[in-house]
Amino acid sequence: MVSVVAVDGPAGSGKSSVCRGVATRLGYRYLDTGAMYRAMTWAVLKAGIDPDDAAAVAAYASRPLIASGTDPAAPTIKVDGTDVAEPVRDAAVTDAVSAVSAVPSVRERLVTIQRDQADHAVGAGIGIVVEGRDIGSVVLPAADLKIFLTADAATRALRRAREQAGGAPVGEQSVSATEAALSRRDAFDAGRAASPMTQADDAVVVDTTDLTLAEVIDLVCELVLERAS
Ligand code: C5P
Repeated sequence: MVSVVAVDGPAGSGKSSVCRGVATRLGYRYLDTGAMYRAMTWAVLKAGIDPDDAAAVAAYASRPLIASGTDPAAPTIKVDGTDVAEPVRDAAVTDAVSAVSAVPSVRERLVTIQRDQADHAVGAGIGIVVEGRDIGSVVLPAADLKIFLTADAATRALRRAREQAGGAPVGEQSVSATEAALSRRDAFDAGRAASPMTQADDAVVVDTTDLTLAEVIDLVCELVLERAS
């Protein structure tokens, strides 16, 4: 049984933790396409290119070699052989990533790699869980299962603020600043012309607001196994 699982949804909906948990449980590979857009953005900033200059970003997009490791226990992301897992989470990258991701040639380049990685897993007889914004709608429209993961805005902000604080207590102010930043990024990602964040028509919507991570992983695994039987 080989399955391709596409998981889309807004920032902070729990996609990464859920997808890694599902892939680990089922022995699948895991591809974080957001990390690839972040890696491209890191490279753009490092090259001194203005991320809002779409023509300059487009001219540069074919240069950096972006490589993702798909082991859910230890996913990796590299640019030209350099491990960028940490710097791609920096605020500078997070602030610029939506603008870079909206450039069509960036998407063409990364979508080709994403499809190759899914084909490669399936060719090897292994399932894969792919997370992003346009996976079910554009990247892998023939996926066996499509999930659209959501949670209410306040819950997403609280989760993301806690994650960023790394266990330290989070204040109300930091949660509301995070909520504003997430909502700006979601509006940009959903409003762009090229492959906007979309809920595919045949996606199963999973609202994680009142569910624990373990409950969401159980639910998604059940859906995968149901589809595969
Ligand atoms: O998932 P994550 O928050 O790391 O994604 C970072 C950004 O990458 C998103 O805000 C979006 O701009 C972009 N992205 C995208 N298409 C995807 C995955 C991510 O445009 N499939």
